[in-house]
Amino acid sequence: MEEKITLKKLAKDPGCLTEYDPNAMEYQDALKWIKQFIEPVNQTITIPIRDSLGKILSEDIYSPIDVPNYDNSAMDGFVFYQPEENSPTSLDVIGLEFAGKSLNKNILPGQALQIMTGARIPKGGNTVVPIELVTFEDNKISINKTSKVGANIRKIGEDVKKGELILKKGKLIRPSEIGLLSSLGHSKVNVYRQIRVAFFSTGDEVVEVGNILKVGQVYDSNNHTIEAMLKSIGADIINLRIIPDDKKKIKESLLSIADDVDVIITSGGVSVGAADYMKEVLNDIGEVLFWKLSIKPGRPLAYGKINQTHYFGLPGNPVASMVSFYQIVQPQLKVLMGEFNYQPPPLLEVKTSETIFKKPGRMEFQRGVLFQRNNEWLVKPTGHQGSAILSSMSQANCFIVLGIHENSIDCGGIVNVQLMEGFI
Ligand code: AMP
Ligand code: MG
Repeated sequence: MEEKITLKKLAKDPGCLTEYDPNAMEYQDALKWIKQFIEPVNQTITIPIRDSLGKILSEDIYSPIDVPNYDNSAMDGFVFYQPEENSPTSLDVIGLEFAGKSLNKNILPGQALQIMTGARIPKGGNTVVPIELVTFEDNKISINKTSKVGANIRKIGEDVKKGELILKKGKLIRPSEIGLLSSLGHSKVNVYRQIRVAFFSTGDEVVEVGNILKVGQVYDSNNHTIEAMLKSIGADIINLRIIPDDKKKIKESLLSIADDVDVIITSGGVSVGAADYMKEVLNDIGEVLFWKLSIKPGRPLAYGKINQTHYFGLPGNPVASMVSFYQIVQPQLKVLMGEFNYQPPPLLEVKTSETIFKKPGRMEFQRGVLFQRNNEWLVKPTGHQGSAILSSMSQANCFIVLGIHENSIDCGGIVNVQLMEGFI
């Protein structure tokens, strides 16, 4: 850890007004700073691979078999022996070889077996010619186009070799990993247990959806976005709903759940307003280890601990709370879940189709739309970039990631873009 990051420095907290705040930590430093407090959960469970989607492997996987475990045909066609030179042009077909049902016939020079994709290569055969490249008549084929020796044969172990390290501990299990594990014959797998995360919103003005909204009130969208983001990474959740701006109630809520969960996440009340109690309460019952980073949206963000439980206090503004979750909290939760090599989605360079407005002083995660025009991929901001404009998150399919020192980018300039969704 670099020496310039100290808690003392972080604790001095002027307001959030100026673009540049000497006490707000830079994004990459903040990620590293918080990560030093995060250890992967150490309990593991054994589960059927059918239930393992989104879980994290807690063991290295070595292959018990060769995959494939026999030489087999990659095509529907004819298998025969082809010498290095003088390929045969006409062959006698002596039978039909299906996948899973072998005739156990050997092939002699001059002979061929009709063979289906996945069927075992018989003794004496070394090449498969696809059915489309032969003329087949009266139990004879004439080969219209010569194949290379060994063509269209999938060799034993060509995908995975017996004994090979095939998946490493800490790997997120996606459909491909489930496929790979099943191709090795595994029916069960050892994974890290789910993390338990409790969360609630704070704010006297915040109201549960389903109620009539009075002037001065706002529906609780953060509770729903946080729940959805937690579910999408596979956390086990406990939702404490809405707690008013009341120090005693906030303290009671935190203490009521702290011993039962790995993480508590709250939204609102972490800034410098007169009703922003989260840091004060956390200081009282635990420790504040971080607050404030130089990103936009989302400068106020508290991290701390209540005994062994991690605490993240997200800003109340709906976009700021989502951006802070994705960019700061999610990478930490991934490590806690056991995915210790987690890397955020990559940054791609894309040309902007509009001017992107920015002042130097904070790293920005603007909401953007990546779109195609005349066969070229371009990006543009979604419009109003205020931290309360939740529609900007919904319209966006990417973040436009702008460096702390960057100024506005002219139309046609190149910016870094990070996709929000993709294949799992
Ligand atoms: P705070 O961080 O508590 O000062 O709140 C900042 C802004 O976000 C205020 O305008 C709040 O009304 C709004 N806000 C706080 N919590 C929520 C929530 N759970 N859902 C929607 N908006 C919220
Ligand atoms: Mg508030």
